[in-house]
Amino acid sequence: MPEQIGFIGLGIMGRGMAANLMQKLTPGIWVWNRTASRTEEFAAQGATAAASPAALAAECGIILLCVSDTPDVEQVILGPGGVLEGIQPGALVIDHSTISPRATREIAARLAEKGAHFLDAPVSGGSEGAARGTLSIMVGGDPAHLERVRPVLETYGKTITHVGPVGSGQMVKLVNQILVVVNELAVCEGLLFAQAGGLDLEQTLAAVSGGAAGSWMLANRGPQMIRRDWRPGFTIDLQQKDLRLVLEAADELGLPLLATGMVFHLYRALQRQGLGSEGNHALVKALEQLSGIQLGD
Ligand code: NAP
Repeated sequence: MPEQIGFIGLGIMGRGMAANLMQKLTPGIWVWNRTASRTEEFAAQGATAAASPAALAAECGIILLCVSDTPDVEQVILGPGGVLEGIQPGALVIDHSTISPRATREIAARLAEKGAHFLDAPVSGGSEGAARGTLSIMVGGDPAHLERVRPVLETYGKTITHVGPVGSGQMVKLVNQILVVVNELAVCEGLLFAQAGGLDLEQTLAAVSGGAAGSWMLANRGPQMIRRDWRPGFTIDLQQKDLRLVLEAADELGLPLLATGMVFHLYRALQRQGLGSEGNHALVKALEQLSGIQLGD
């Protein structure tokens, strides 16, 4: 009999991933979500809602999860009624959340005491990537465990890369976040410079996007900034959660991260103004306040 699969955490990301898994591999999965009503649409399509993470773990050889932050993963796995209480020897837990690399290693060790295995497998590609099944997945852990679960991950991941032992997936995800926010700051500065210089912003974008300065952030968020459309693909609050993880890891490594630290504090200023639920490209508002120049003036 094939292994039973369970999915914990049906938020913006988990919802799209679980839907792809059910469509492309098997509708007969187990699901659990803290807000139980979110499991209903999955149950209607053939999934079974578990009463708790422990109950799900008692049924499943492969347990996937995607929840918000480090304390949330700890609660779902190690807390009362958590995965650890129900897990079977030989079962494999795959964490798609973005959380602390250090906590990740500790969670893996606790699971190992019960004879269970663990992969950290954070994702990149946004809610669009989860819904379309085109995520990038960076995986830390035993490569043999990745091969066991690869057909599952392929239902929602386009690029699946093994990057080292447990914790390495989270470290690579933090690299991803450094690249994202520093590039975002560059996009903001470039556009404000264009505005101050009296340039046409659309033409400027068109002129530089195809050259060496081109990037995903410039192509996708540049036009949104020009239109002053602050709807989130990824909120400032969640972005800050990731930058906090980056700066904590850098502190442990004794590494100065000047540009990332600067972006962290610019976002903090925006959070203090109540803008944490806006998209991360609203970073430009912090620079607008400093310069007294506004895009689109
Ligand atoms: P989200 O929509 O806010 O969903 C969060 C999920 O976690 C919900 O299912 C929520 O349950 C659950 N949860 C939170 N705290 C919990 C707790 N203490 N116990 C049990 N369940 C808990 O967030 P998301 O955008 O899907 O993000 C999930 C993870 O993916 C985060 O680590 C994020 O950084 C990462 N990520 C997000 C994106 C993106 O573009 N959104 C891209 C890449 C990676 P309820 O339904 O009960 O609230």
